Amino acid sequence: MADFALNEDQLQLQKWVHDFAETVIRPVAHEWDEREEFPFPIVQQAAEIGLYGWEFLMNANADPSGLTLPVSIEELFWGDAGIGMAIMGSALAAAGIAGNGTPEQVVEWIPQCYGDAKKVQLGAFCVSEPDAGSDVSSLRTRAVYDEANDEWVLNGTKAWITNGGIADVHVVVAAVEPDLKGRGQASFIVPPGTKGISQGQKYKKHGIRASHTAEVVLDDCRVPGSCLLGGKAKLDAKLARARELGHSGEKQPAMTTFEATRPSVGAQALGIARAAYEFALDYAKERKTFGKPIIMHQAIAFKLANMATEIDASRLLIWRAAWLARNGGFKNGEGSMSKYKASEVAVRVTEDAIQILGGYGYIRDYPVERWHRDAKIHTIFEGTSEIQQLVIARAISGMRVE
Ligand SMILES: Cc1cc2nc3c(=O)[nH]c(=O)nc-3n(C[C@H](O)[C@H](O)[C@H](O)COP(=O)(O)OP(=O)(O)OC[C@H]3O[C@@H](n4cnc5c(N)ncnc54)[C@H](O)[C@@H]3O)c2cc1C
Repeated sequence: MADFALNEDQLQLQKWVHDFAETVIRPVAHEWDEREEFPFPIVQQAAEIGLYGWEFLMNANADPSGLTLPVSIEELFWGDAGIGMAIMGSALAAAGIAGNGTPEQVVEWIPQCYGDAKKVQLGAFCVSEPDAGSDVSSLRTRAVYDEANDEWVLNGTKAWITNGGIADVHVVVAAVEPDLKGRGQASFIVPPGTKGISQGQKYKKHGIRASHTAEVVLDDCRVPGSCLLGGKAKLDAKLARARELGHSGEKQPAMTTFEATRPSVGAQALGIARAAYEFALDYAKERKTFGKPIIMHQAIAFKLANMATEIDASRLLIWRAAWLARNGGFKNGEGSMSKYKASEVAVRVTEDAIQILGGYGYIRDYPVERWHRDAKIHTIFEGTSEIQQLVIARAISGMRVE
C-alpha cells in the first residue's frame, strides 16, 4: 500500500532543497531570466553542496517510496523553473543511459553527465528533430555501422535540445533501420570532444529562459561501437525480431525514458504552481479594494480555493505515479496522468495568479508573469498534453487510439 507520509530523511531533504531554492535561486531568478543564459555559477553552487550530481540522483532513485525525487524537484522549481531546468536537465540524459545502457555503460557515462564540484559537466538527451517531436517514430537522424572500424556514423539535426551543444555528453537517438520506424531506433553516447557534433541555433524562448535550448547538428559524427547503448548483440536481436514480426515487443528507446521521467516533469510544474499560489494568497490578504482585502471578495477567494485544490490534486497524482513507478508499474497511464494534470494546472494557476495581482501581475517587477511563462513549457515538452491524453486513452481502452 502506498504511504504518503514523508519520512525523516525526506523531510530533511525537502527543507534542504527549499533553503537552497529560497536563498540561492530565488534572489537571482529574475536576473538569469533576463540574461537568457545558462546559469553556470548557480549550477556550480548546487554541485558544491551535492544537489547537482549523479550521487544525488542515484540516492533519490534508490528510495523505495519513489517520493524523494518529486519532493526535491517541487522545491527546486518553486525556486525558479529556468534555473531548476539547468540543474535537472542532465537527468534526462542520465535517464536515457539508465533506461537503455548496460550496467558498465551506466557506471561509465552517468557520472560524466555531471562531472564534480571541481569541474561541472552537463548531459543532453537528443531525440526531437525539426520534423519529429511528438512523432518520435519518424526520426531522420541516421546511425550507420562501419564494421571495419567498429564505429557508428551519425548524421542528422536534432531540435529543441536542453543543454544541446553545451553538454559534455550527448545521448542521441537515431534510426538504424528507418523502415522499422520506432523499432529500428537505438541510442548512442557521443562522448566529450567528439568531432562532427556541433550546436546549431540557440532558441530564444517564451519561458525557462535560463535553461539552454538549441539545435544539435551531427555531421559524419563517429562514435566507437561501445557507445551503442545496450550493445550490438542486443540491438541485432531486437532488429531481427522486428523484421520477422513487424514489432519487437520492446518499447522505443526514447519512449522508455520519457515514461520513467513523467512524474518528475509533473513535479516541476507543481513547484511553479505552488510558487504562484503562495504569492497570490499573500498578496490577496494585503491588497485592499473597496475598503477590504481582495481575498474578502468571494471571486478572489474562490479562485484561491480552486488553486489550492488543484495543486493538492496534482501532487497526489504525482506521488501516486512516483510510487507506482517503483512498486508495480503504471497500469492506466498514471505517469502521463500526473504530468498532464500538473502541467495544465500550472498554466491555469499561474494565469489566475496574474489575475489576482491585476496590473502588478502583468509587469516584470513581480515574478508572477515569469511563472506563467515558465509553466507553459510543461504542456509541451516530454510529451504534449495531447500525447499524454493519447497514452492514457490507449492504456484505459487497450485500443490503438490515434
Ligand atoms: C524548451 C524546450 C526544451 C526541450 N528539450 C528537449 C530535449 O532535451 N530533448 C528532446 O529530445 N526534445 C526536447 N524538446 C522537444 C519537445 O519534446 C517537443 O517540442 C515536443 O515533443 C513536441 O513536439 P513538436 O514541437 O514537434 O510538436 P508536434 O509534434 O508537431 O505537435 C504539434 C501539435 O500537434 C499535437 N499533436 C501531434 N500529434 C498528435 C496526435 N497524434 N494527436 C493529437 N495531437 C497531436 C501536439 O500535441 C501539439 O499540440 C524540448 C522542447 C522545448 C520547447
